[in-house]
Parts: sequence; C-alpha cells; structure tokens
Amino acid sequence: MNLGDKKPEKKPLYVYYIIAIVVIFLLNFLVVPTIQEGSIITTDYSTFLNNVDRGNVTDVTVDGDYIYYVARKDGRDVECKTVAMDDPNLVERLRQAGVNMQEAEPARQSLFLSIILSYVIPIAIFILLGRWLSKKMMSSMGDGPGGMMSFGKSNAKVYVKSTSGIKFADVAGEDEAKELLTEIVDYLHNPHKYAEIGASMPKGALLVGPPGTGKTLLAKAVAGEAEVPFFSISGSEFVEMFVGMGAAKVRDLFKQANEKAPCIVFIDEIDTIGKKRDGGGFSGNDEREQTLNQLLTEMDGFDGSKGVVILAATNRPDSLDPALLRPGRFDRRIPVELPDLQGREEILKVHAKKIKIADTVRFDEIAKAAAGASGAELANIVNEAALRAVRDGRKFATQADFEESIEVVIAGYQKKNRVLSNKEKLIVAYHEIGHALVAAKQTDSAPVHKITIIPRTSGALGYTMQVDEKEHFLMSKEELENKIATFTGGRAAEELIFHTITTGASNDIEQATRIARAMITRYGMSDEFDMVAMENVTNPYLGGDSSLACSFETQTVLDKKVVDLVSGQHQKALKILQDNIGKLHELAKYLYEHETITGEEFMKILEAPMPELQQN
Ligand code: ADP
Ligand code: MG
Ligand code: ZN
Repeated sequence: MNLGDKKPEKKPLYVYYIIAIVVIFLLNFLVVPTIQEGSIITTDYSTFLNNVDRGNVTDVTVDGDYIYYVARKDGRDVECKTVAMDDPNLVERLRQAGVNMQEAEPARQSLFLSIILSYVIPIAIFILLGRWLSKKMMSSMGDGPGGMMSFGKSNAKVYVKSTSGIKFADVAGEDEAKELLTEIVDYLHNPHKYAEIGASMPKGALLVGPPGTGKTLLAKAVAGEAEVPFFSISGSEFVEMFVGMGAAKVRDLFKQANEKAPCIVFIDEIDTIGKKRDGGGFSGNDEREQTLNQLLTEMDGFDGSKGVVILAATNRPDSLDPALLRPGRFDRRIPVELPDLQGREEILKVHAKKIKIADTVRFDEIAKAAAGASGAELANIVNEAALRAVRDGRKFATQADFEESIEVVIAGYQKKNRVLSNKEKLIVAYHEIGHALVAAKQTDSAPVHKITIIPRTSGALGYTMQVDEKEHFLMSKEELENKIATFTGGRAAEELIFHTITTGASNDIEQATRIARAMITRYGMSDEFDMVAMENVTNPYLGGDSSLACSFETQTVLDKKVVDLVSGQHQKALKILQDNIGKLHELAKYLYEHETITGEEFMKILEAPMPELQQN
C-alpha cells in the first residue's frame, strides 16, 4: 500500500478502442444515412415506361444512376425506383405524359455534409479521445507502469512506517551500518537537538558492499524506523527511452520529496545512473549523463535543514562519478560487508525464526561451514533446509537439513541420476582424498569437514569441504601456499595412482592460479617484485576483477613466477601423497564404498595405525 496515489480505477486500453469503433459505426449508419429506402419499390425500366405511358406517373427525380418516381397505383401514390437507362427519348416521353421532372440536387450541399460527417467528426472524436486518455494516464500516475504517457514522472514509491514493517531488528549483524543509520533516523525525529549545536546532517549516505549483504534491506529498515515518508526508486527506473526524460524524473522525485519533507529518498543501485562521466570522446550516453547532472544539481539545490536525507546503495562504488561522492552530496559512506562468523550466526537465527527447526540445530556450526556466504545466501540456506525437511516429510528442519542445504547453495543439488562408471568413481575418490590428505598433512590448513563423491548439478563430481575453526582475517604466505598445494592435491593423486590425468581438475586449476597470481601481483609475496602492485583491483565487490598495471616485459616474468609457484606446490603435494600412499589407498577405498564421509571418519582412518604395521 502506497501513500499519495489515489488513482482512479484504470480501464484497459481496449475498452476505449471499442468505444471509438462503435461511435464510428453509429456515425456511418445513423448520421450519414443514404436515403430511407425501406418504402421504395424497385421496378424495372419497362414497368416504369408503362406507367409513364399510362399516365400513372406524376413526379420523376433523376439521381445519378437511378430514377425515382411516384406512381399512382390503386388510388395511392407509391414511391418507386428504377435503374436509369441511356434513353434519349425519355425526356420527350415524360413531357408528353405531363410528368414533373427534376434533377436530384443533393450533389453540392450533401457532399460537403458527408465530408464533415464521415471524416471531420470521426477524426475530431479520435483526437479528443486521445487527449482525454493521455490526461487520464498522466493523472493516474503513481507507482506501476504509467505507460508511454508518463514521461518525466518518477516512479518513486512512498513507504510509510506501518507498511514497510521491516525494522533494524530484522537486519542481523552489520552493527556499524545500523549505528550510522540510526543517527540519521534520530536526526529526522529530533532535528532541533542537532540544530542547537549547529551540526548539520550529511545530505546523503551511500551504502556500499557486495551483493546480498542487506543494503536494500537496511534502507527498508530505515524506512520502518523513521516515521517519515520514504521514497524508494531504483537507478534503472531513471533510464528512459528519450534524452532528457531521466532528468525530468529526477526533478520530479526531488520536487515530491521537498513537498513531503522531512523524508528519506532511497536510490537503489545508483551505479546505473551514477557512472563516471567520461571526458570527451564519443558522447557515450547523453541521457545518462543528463540524468546524473540533474541528480547532482538537485542534491546541491535542496535545503538540508528541511530534513530530506538521501540514501543510495551500490555494489560498484569504484565506478561512481567522483562528483557524487564529494562532501555535500553522498558524503557518508556506509560499508555493508560480508558478515563475519558472529554475523552469519545471527543472520541464520533471524531467518530461522520464520521456519520450524529441531532443538538440536547448532547455528554456530552452520555459520562456520558457510564461510564467505552473504546474508542473501544464508537466507537461502535456511529456506533450502526447510524445503528439504518438507521433501522428507518432516515437520521441522534438522542439522542435517542445514548441512545439506549449505552444499546445495555451494555446489548445487545432488545429481542422483548421473551414473559414473566404476572406474570414474574410483578416480574421483582418489582425487578427493588427494585434496583431503594434502590438506590434513600440512600445518595451518583448515580441517576437512566432509568429503563426497556424489555428483552435483553444478558439474562437480565430488568435493572436499574444509571448515576453519575460527575466522581468518589475515592470511600468511604459508597458508596461501598450503591452499595452493591442497588444490593441486587432487590432480597429484590421479597422477600417482593412475599415471594419467583427467579433466576433473579444471576448477582446482582456476582457483590455484587465482591465489598464486594474487600473491605475486597484489600481496607482494615474491622476492622479485617486492611491494609493488602489478595489478589493480577494479571492482572489489563483484568478483574482484583486476587490471594489469605493469609493462609487457614484467608480465612475462610475472606469468613465469605464477607457474613456478603453482608447480612448486604441486611437487610438494605429490611428495606428501607419496609419503602417505598407504593411507591414500585406504581412504580412497573407504570413500569409494561410502560415497560420503565426514571429517571425523576421515581423521579416524588417517590417524589409525596402518594395518600392515599392526601385523608386524
Ligand atoms: P543487497 O545488499 O544486494 O541489496 P538485499 O538487501 O537485497 O541485498 O538482501 C537480500 C536478502 O538477503 C534480504 O531480503 C534478506 O532476506 C537477506 N539478508 C541479507 N543481509 C541480511 C542481514 N544482515 N540480516 C538479515 N537478512 C539479510
Ligand atoms: Mg539491493
Ligand atoms: Zn579437485
């Protein structure tokens, strides 16, 4: 339910078309009748002549191809009509019979009339109908698609406290962000408190962070907490078909906001309109630039003390135009980062309130296993767990449901119908144990949590899940190297046992390369380049794209370094597996039989003395 649009019931467009068509039909059939023909008897020409000769005909009217005449029949005058013939004697004949003759005279006058009736009036009706329609559309502007006619009107939705219903309590974690936003809410409620000291609120606050971390949710929570009108619009809604329309929308939005002050304006995904303007060159996107300029102007224009606060959210702060970020515009930047362990646990709990769960569910364990997950993913995990419980006919979700749903979110659903040949299954088992064994035999590696060789819809034929006991904020060079070694462990096991290699390691290769590359280009972990950045991260929140910032020669050296680093770790992995080849066989066989084993099972087998040794 939105405030501020009392829109009348809108009839679908076709209703108006039907009305127009009916009106034209009526015009044609009623207003422009040719001649009332109902009572006229059509006769043939010879009958007409006979009547003339017999003196029955009194009046004759020639109208184009027809002759209308009045004949006396049985003492009554009957109107008749016949097709005119090319008869030169007719006039003479009629005169002799003493008939009144006349030429029909509708020609001039009624031509004029018929033009008016059949052209001018329908067109006028169409024009009037069109104008009335467009006026109706304009006035019924609110939210929702206004159609082509609503150019220049913003689609900002107005939320009020009671309708949004989302409070800060619904946003778990993100305490810093909440604190900063609370201040804004407080300012809107007690502006005099700030005015007394002379402090002025920032005009705008920009929520930045990776996708799914709750930026939009936070903005909605602000709307729920602040008891003021809340205008919410997405950046893409400013993008219009015609140049200048986006700017008009911005103008309209701020006009509305000024009228409703104190209020909050929220622009989601502001990067759509706030992208850096490129200087000169081809004028890439005039429309977007105009929209941005208008936004900048409006932000300068309005009076901050009136209590209009502008919130915006983006996951691409790097691409925003610097003019947007300068003081006086979005001068407060509120980071909304991926949740930490504590935050993940809280988010899980918030969402788990909506579903029925078993008492035994350990949220701390789930939070640990879901390292790196965003708020949106965690919400998804909870929902998947509930769905799984329903699928299995249970009344509540259990720990196992949650663990499986983490895997679903990470790796996709189990692909039960994919049948691996026994040989393939064996290779996958050795491959996964290779990863796990290398991880376990190194210090500073996260413990193995679960190993499975059940194929997933993501395409993974199996995977090894490692779960850190505690959260890492710093990674040492050794830890990163160990990670690379662990990634190469799968392939190493294949080489060692089957003396051949498969395509199964493509994902491992990707990940190992990414870490190795980052170590050298960004973390300064090579002797050669010292603390010089070879790459710049251009987009920290969306996949961390980076661009090279070094000469061509350096790139060559750099590539070589990356290869050396990875192959060094590959050798290390091979050595570890070679040294533990007995355990490798034993564990792979166990995994092959069981398909899924837990970290505890894995460690139990790994730490048990080798059977051969027992016999000795
Ligand atoms: P974005 O940062 O991309 O705007 P959203 O705010 O749209 O992310 O979050 C998507 C969904 O993820 C929310 O609707 C909510 O269910 C969940 N979510 C994300 N972060 C949190 C959080 N901190 N607390 C609770 N739920 C969250
Ligand atoms: Mg969002
Ligand atoms: Zn692998």
